[in-house]
Amino acid sequence: MDLAGGLGDISRDSRVFIKPNFCQWYKEVNFPKYGVLTTARLVEDIVILLKEHGVKDITILEGAIEIRRESEPMLQLVAKGMGLDVLAQRYGVKIVDALRSSFAKITAGDVTLSVNSDILDADYIINMPVLKTHSQTMVSLGIKNLKGALGIPSRKMCHNPDQDCDLNYHIAKLPGVLSPSLTIIDGIYTLERGPLITGRAQRSNIIIASKDLISADKVGATVLGIAPQTIPHIVMAARNHGRPADLTDTNVRGEIDIRTALKPHRWEFEQNESGDLPLFFERAGIRGLTYPPVDKTMCTYCADFISYVISGILLAKNNDRPLDDIEILHGKIHEPTGTHKHTLLVGQCQVKRNGANTLINHCVRIKGCPPSKKDLLEAYAGLGIELPDDFIEQMERIPETLMGKYLDKPGFDEEFYRIQ
Ligand code: SF4
Repeated sequence: MDLAGGLGDISRDSRVFIKPNFCQWYKEVNFPKYGVLTTARLVEDIVILLKEHGVKDITILEGAIEIRRESEPMLQLVAKGMGLDVLAQRYGVKIVDALRSSFAKITAGDVTLSVNSDILDADYIINMPVLKTHSQTMVSLGIKNLKGALGIPSRKMCHNPDQDCDLNYHIAKLPGVLSPSLTIIDGIYTLERGPLITGRAQRSNIIIASKDLISADKVGATVLGIAPQTIPHIVMAARNHGRPADLTDTNVRGEIDIRTALKPHRWEFEQNESGDLPLFFERAGIRGLTYPPVDKTMCTYCADFISYVISGILLAKNNDRPLDDIEILHGKIHEPTGTHKHTLLVGQCQVKRNGANTLINHCVRIKGCPPSKKDLLEAYAGLGIELPDDFIEQMERIPETLMGKYLDKPGFDEEFYRIQ
């Protein structure tokens, strides 16, 4: 913090908001938090620094992803799981659920977004993302972390099908909508093929702090091994603020060489040579399937559901036999090729776009936003994909299964995610 200029610019009477990345939680299951969530440890450290500085009014705000119909709000699950209530008792910190408060419309250029009103009233915003990659935006750092303060319709709108104002274009507008005074990127754990629990984390022990959001992200991307001038939303955000996308205007302090500190982190799920199947399907021996890559138009809600679509094929009882020439379309822009026996449309956007497309020979629909699991079971039965009887239970155990790769691995310590 001293290298980044300290907290001297915060007055003691300020209303300070901390925006971590507490994107999701799984109830009663141990799941990998490494590189996915901001560590509770770092959040507590910042709260202690603020208290020592004399700041009294501190709020943690997050709008966690609410996909599963849990009995309580997702942020409440995070708060219980991480022990954030201890921060409330010990330091008087308030916890605000961005999705259960009011929103105000904020315009940045030609984009208008609904932003949580509480954080708009902050005197000082401390943005605390994780140092991680993202399968749609290449990296998810300080700029992208601000999306968690938006209302759900605005988040969905960001995944616009129009190439000229796509997800990157919308995210690049976020620094014009909310201005963090300080960005601290938590790289205690970093994540390849993020942003969620299916990624692969490593212990990296790097913290990037800057009072300049764009500089923080440019350095963060470089540490992950991705040149910032190749990342569309960073390029556009820099341009919107009259800045270069590379590091030429950034003064880096500290003891590490940011270009060689870590091995490059991969962010993409590669397709096979012919481009019609993700490599992981090809390696698993799946045949008779056409599955285009996930694009930027798919919102988080469909992205979560797609794990059921993929796992259904990998776990099918008859996956040693070729599928019956099926193509699966998802997101908002995929079009049928007209050359397959069956076309499965995943999600309301695909059903609306291609439900009546005459190129499709046999159309199978999974409606809903988010799409319906019941429809998935029916669709797979109709397509001859034999799911195991306990498929849904197996899916619910996946977070715990993914945790297996970190158990007993040196440097992976759950205590980072629990306020003591
Ligand atoms: S159906 Fe999927 S892609 Fe369409 S708006 Fe809903 S979540 Fe987004």
